[in-house]
This record gives sequence, C-alpha cells and structure tokens, in this order.
Amino acid sequence: MSTGPMPTPIIAARDLVKVYARGPTTVRAVDGISLAVEPGEFLAVMGRSGSGKTTLLDLLGCLLRPTSGELAIDGQVVTGASDSRLAAIRQAKIGFVFQEFNLIASLNALENVMLPLRYAPRRPNGRADAVALLELVGLGTRIMHRPSELSGGEQQRVAIARALVNGPSVILADEPTGELDSATSSALLAMLRRLNAERGVTVVIVTHDPGVAGATDRVVRLSDGRVSRDVRRDEPGWRDTLGAGVLGAQADGVRPARRVWARLGELLDRRRTAPR
Ligand code: ADP
Ligand code: MG
Repeated sequence: MSTGPMPTPIIAARDLVKVYARGPTTVRAVDGISLAVEPGEFLAVMGRSGSGKTTLLDLLGCLLRPTSGELAIDGQVVTGASDSRLAAIRQAKIGFVFQEFNLIASLNALENVMLPLRYAPRRPNGRADAVALLELVGLGTRIMHRPSELSGGEQQRVAIARALVNGPSVILADEPTGELDSATSSALLAMLRRLNAERGVTVVIVTHDPGVAGATDRVVRLSDGRVSRDVRRDEPGWRDTLGAGVLGAQADGVRPARRVWARLGELLDRRRTAPR
C-alpha cells in the first residue's frame, strides 16, 4: 500500500437524497447515499429494478440535482452550482453511456460522436479524435452510417465513443450491456476494462448481470434507495454480493436464460453418462 496522502475521490457523495413526486405521494428514489469513488476504480452498481440505480447515476453525473446532500466531483463541490457550471463540469470530467444509446437518428456515427464537441470550442482536432475513437471501438469502416444502419451493439459502441470524445476522467454507464447479446456484451466490457487499465479512466457501471459485475473490482448494491452492500473484490463477502446479484437479476427477468442454461447442463450430463 502507498503511504502517501489519500487521493482526492473523483466522486464524493454525502447523504444524497432524491425525492420524486408521484401523484399525491412522494418516492425517495435515492434515500441517503454516501459514496466515495477513487480515481481509477472500476465499480458496479447492482440492485433490483426500482432500487434507485439510474437516479443515483444521474445524480453522480450531474444530470439531476439532489433534493439534499452534497456531491463533489474531483474535489469540487457541485451541489448548488449553476446550470452552466454543471454543464461545464460534465463536459470536462464525465462521459455518460445510456441504456437506450440516445443517439440522434438523423446524424451519422461520426456526427453523433462529435456532438459533445459543440460545447468544447477549443478542440481543433475534434474530428480526428472522433474518427480515432470510432476506430478504437471497431467502427472505423462505419463512421458515415446512421444509427438505423447499425446493430444494437454497434450503436452502443458509438455511444461509448461519444462518451469518450471529451477525454473524461469518469465513465458512468447505465446498463450498457442490457440490450446486447452476450458476445457483444463481453466485448464492450473488455473495452471498458482496457480503458480503465490503460488510460486510468474511472468506470461506474450499472448492471443486473452478475457476470458483468464479477468483472469489476467493487460492487455497490442498492436496496430501496440505500446502499445495502459495498464490497471490494479482495474482501470477504465478494462472492456473496455477486450471488445476491444473481437473485436480483432473476427477479428482473433473467430467469429463463438461467433455466435454459441449467437444462443444457442436464442434457450434457445425461449424454456423458448414457450407456454406449
Ligand atoms: P432503477 O434504475 O434501479 O430501476 P430508478 O432510479 O429508475 O431505479 O427509480 C427509483 C425509483 O424512483 C422508482 O420507484 C421509480 O419509479 C422512481 N422514479 C424514477 N424516476 C422518476 C421520475 N422522474 N418521477 C417519479 N418517480 C421516478
Ligand atoms: Mg435504471
């Protein structure tokens, strides 16, 4: 372990609360979350549907203002900042990947990736950077394709290139593999891992998939808008936390795939033990 001073967390949240009005009542979507993310961490946020994952990520990404609590990005307190200052912080530090890709249908891949540069006037090499990023995500030959001409996996890779174009310190990804087949999903994960390892990008990934979470270094579980577990890979309870994830994922509809998998296992066992 280093004996130097602790690094400034890239994200420091204290007692974050987000209350939504829902008809005559209110929902505490995020109900008092404190969380510190160190630079270079690669962490997963898990939890059942409705547990507050998206709300938390939107708060951490300054897309949403908390009802109360405090948030600092890279040592700068952002709660209470003006809209334009929040936009500037997002633009300088944060890359966001949404579950539904959020690409602009009328723009091609390159134009979509360049979109965040509109707010970064001092980027003369923006276009070249965008092309390089599309090459990095394996879409070098598709830069002129519109979203409708790309597969789901390809669209998500465009969204990742877009999240990277401003050179963010943090990538916040909300179920980025949720709509992808497992091969595409592992390729995407491998790419995030590589960005993390080679470029030191901090990654926070919301996922239902214990396989995805198991590839990270830390898992934060949410339950009813609160942190119910926060475990690092080298700590006891790591496997348990992922195991609980399997149960959570089942509740969100992954059960059939697991059943098919179990059935396949049975079939193979039977074949192996069948008399010749
Ligand atoms: P998750 O991403 O874990 O599924 P969300 O953060 O989307 O959870 O939602 C947490 C809770 O807040 C849910 O009960 C959801 O219905 C509620 N919620 C989320 N967004 C809104 C909103 N814009 N208005 C009202 N309620 C919301
Ligand atoms: Mg969500």
